[in-house]
Amino acid sequence: MLDNKLLKGKAVADHITENAIEDVKKLKSMGIIPTLAMVKVGHKFDDEAYERAAKKRCDRCGIETKSIELDENCTQEEYIEAIQKLNDDIEVHGILCFRPLPKHIDEEVIEKVIKVEKDLDCFSPMNMAKVMFGDEMAYPPCTAMGVIEILNFYKINLSGKKVAVLGRSLVVGKPLSILLINRDATVTVCHSKTENIKEITKNSDIVVSCMGRAKMINKDYINENSIVIDVGINFDDEGNMCGDVDLDSVIDKVSAITPVPGGVGAVTTSILISHLVRACKKINNI
Ligand code: NAP
Repeated sequence: MLDNKLLKGKAVADHITENAIEDVKKLKSMGIIPTLAMVKVGHKFDDEAYERAAKKRCDRCGIETKSIELDENCTQEEYIEAIQKLNDDIEVHGILCFRPLPKHIDEEVIEKVIKVEKDLDCFSPMNMAKVMFGDEMAYPPCTAMGVIEILNFYKINLSGKKVAVLGRSLVVGKPLSILLINRDATVTVCHSKTENIKEITKNSDIVVSCMGRAKMINKDYINENSIVIDVGINFDDEGNMCGDVDLDSVIDKVSAITPVPGGVGAVTTSILISHLVRACKKINNI
């Protein structure tokens, strides 16, 4: 495998983490202890894995964490009460709500309860609106922002570039397309009803896949200069983690690509802590 074509996430995450460590030191010297609260309902494997990873990165930076664990049968009122308590807690600077919430809790109600200033992963529609307006002080969804940070870190110019975003979910595809437009890219957003995806991706400079379709993107979807960002996290028939892109098929053809695992997924928690540090500074008027 051509290692120099791989846009690895670790270097990006380390860079962001080093900056956060310095910021946390300064905040602590002022008597402020940056604190992240994570709220989960029940025991979901994915939530718990992400929580462990986030806690590990927070520990490395000197950030305090609070884990709020609600019973899987908790009521909507109990969930709201937990969020309001964190909204009002002056020692908490950021809140991460693990989603999707159980069906009996209405996300459209909860998204309006979380305080915008503490909403680190763009749960609040107000934060999404700020992303739309190109407000750099917004907190875009961590995964979407992770893609932007990877492109920044590897000095991949976006201005005037044709970017195909495959997927239009509220957590990845849609906000990412806005972040790219705000950076002067020309963006085509594809979804399950899009016709001729191959033609669109082949004619793009950058392809970002966030569909959740294991190894769907092969060499027929790309050109010799393609830069491919693979957001997908899937499992193949052998149970191995893989992305939306068939790495073996495309590696000789692409110009550069993020691996799975070790690409976008490796960056997400570092974005979370950078948002937390920013929220902490803002709340304290620093
Ligand atoms: P999602 O809500 O299921 O959205 C998937 C999107 O892909 C939808 O817009 C869907 O189109 C589109 N799509 C599905 N099949 C398609 C096809 N065959 N052709 C074209 N478009 C297709 O998923 P998500 O939450 O955005 O997550 C997407 C992937 O990213 C998943 O693999 C997830 O595990 C991964 N992910 C990774 C991270 C990370 O840190 N790396 C974080 C979050 C998510 P429609 O809208 O028409 O249905």
